[in-house]
Amino acid sequence: MAHELRLTGERLTGELVAKVEELSGENLYACFQCGKCSAGCLFADHMDLLPSQVLRLVQLGDEDVLSAQAPWVCASCLACAVRCPKGVDIAKVMEAIRLISLRKGEPHLSPRALAKEERLPQIALVGAFRKMTP
Ligand code: SF4
Ligand code: SF4
Repeated sequence: MAHELRLTGERLTGELVAKVEELSGENLYACFQCGKCSAGCLFADHMDLLPSQVLRLVQLGDEDVLSAQAPWVCASCLACAVRCPKGVDIAKVMEAIRLISLRKGEPHLSPRALAKEERLPQIALVGAFRKMTP
């Protein structure tokens, strides 16, 4: 469901856009959808939305982006950031989306949800729970 967008000066703003910009420190409207970030993302094959699509949904204030898997798959490797001709750091945008989801109090990963065969090395578990739990 899209947030209400309103015109402020010459740019559209909305609650989701404002929150993501505040948390990420990035100017979302600098992105002009060239797709270089998506082309260079090593994890794009495992994402349900490409990084550039995540950014576009946030630009539009579309809250469906909060239920996408892509921000959780993002490894914050910064390959997108170094390729972006507009200097947008999508890793920070992905982090902001994760934070907004986690602040609703819902963990993205629960220890009880892990099957025995999915048990990971301890350091991987600690990293995963730091990233995916409130
Ligand atoms: S590389 Fe930068 S400008 Fe191009 S789509 Fe990605 S974020 Fe937008
Ligand atoms: S920081 Fe995230 S979105 Fe960017 S290239 Fe790496 S995995 Fe992909």
